[in-house]
Amino acid sequence: MADYELILFKNMAKTGYDGSLKAYQQEGGYAALKRVLSDFSPADVIDEVKKSGLRGRGGAGFPAGLKWSFIPKDYKGPRYLCCNADESEPGTYKDRQLMERDPHQMLEGMAICCYAIGAQKAYIYIRGEFDLGAEILNDAIDEACTAKVLGKDIFGSGFNLEIVVHRGAGAYICGEETALLESIEGKRGKPRIKPPFPAIHGLYQEPTVINNVETLANIPHIINKGASWFAGIGTEKSTGTKIYSVSGHVKRPGNFEAPMGVTLREIIYDFAGGIKGDKQLKAVIPGGASAPFMTPEQIDTPMDFDSIKAIGSMLGSAAITVMDETTCIVWAAMNLMEFFHHESCGQCTPCREGSAWILQILRRIENGLGEETDLALLEELCGRIGGNTVCAFGDAEIGPILSTIKHFRAEYENHIREKCCPLRPKARLAMAH
Ligand code: SF4
Repeated sequence: MADYELILFKNMAKTGYDGSLKAYQQEGGYAALKRVLSDFSPADVIDEVKKSGLRGRGGAGFPAGLKWSFIPKDYKGPRYLCCNADESEPGTYKDRQLMERDPHQMLEGMAICCYAIGAQKAYIYIRGEFDLGAEILNDAIDEACTAKVLGKDIFGSGFNLEIVVHRGAGAYICGEETALLESIEGKRGKPRIKPPFPAIHGLYQEPTVINNVETLANIPHIINKGASWFAGIGTEKSTGTKIYSVSGHVKRPGNFEAPMGVTLREIIYDFAGGIKGDKQLKAVIPGGASAPFMTPEQIDTPMDFDSIKAIGSMLGSAAITVMDETTCIVWAAMNLMEFFHHESCGQCTPCREGSAWILQILRRIENGLGEETDLALLEELCGRIGGNTVCAFGDAEIGPILSTIKHFRAEYENHIREKCCPLRPKARLAMAH
């Protein structure tokens, strides 16, 4: 197995590292913030992050420095940073580890970002189920404010920053950036129509940057070691490392940090130890529940934003779900659609109603009651959802359906022809009773 340089997991890989302020500072923590406040102008920081090539780790892969540069420089009112710690994409559990095991790393990244965009208040929007993460972050913020590395007059520079941990209530859609803003404002978490984008009208209609935990955790390292060091890791257009969360039918599930551009084969067979019980690989979801399925023939594709997109899927959150030969693909698609239907915020008819219809058709196919026209009907329904909704959730929910029909059509047809699920033959009986 290749021995890659760790960036985000470097501290926590050390024996005895406890994530406290003292431990973080012993590893050089908050030196980047101190340096930025004394030697860098806000524009210098944005320039450095731009040069590093860092792309957002929440899923969309938008260049972080460019996003920061959209905040109007001469704006007189407040600006905000919102750290997206909602992490509700099924299979994704990397931000949780970053928050719980090394909280000051992301807090330092947040402080540097706030200095760059001129914000004096930042929010961490953390999903409701992360009790421990919220407690650890609140303790870390208190600890940092007492030591004056956060709070008022940080390092005597005159720069003030208040960071607030805001807990969500467990809705998947609140990971969508504008729904997240609505939720912080105390409203129901429904995505906003864009434009205007949050950089102009964000939290409380003020200019706002929204970045994911992993994105912000990279910032101190970019300042400490330089943009060109960071840009030299990974691929030309997807720089740095990525934390890959692997789950499903593997021998060793977990979070693994490796450069952007390693192959899925390396992640599945080297890092995660291969398929459990040495069975055959059947399918992989490479980037969280909303990423289209990939086949075993595609696992030599580099895991970076552009290579995965080029084969019709997406890197997303890099949450890799591995399915072996015993997995029924129709059941897997149905399972995902149960989730999406449940989590639709309901404001767009194609998403709200379409997901219900798709789910109903998938259920009947899986239970041996499918009809010959069902595949065409599924494709038509997906076609009516894609591109016709307020947020990207609509496109996300059809990805797994269309990709499974494309790659595993014969399996769907087999269910319909044989009037049962070949891999879960008792499913229909269970339904009948
Ligand atoms: Fe809500 Fe779905 Fe419309 Fe997104 S696409 S705004 S989740 S109804």
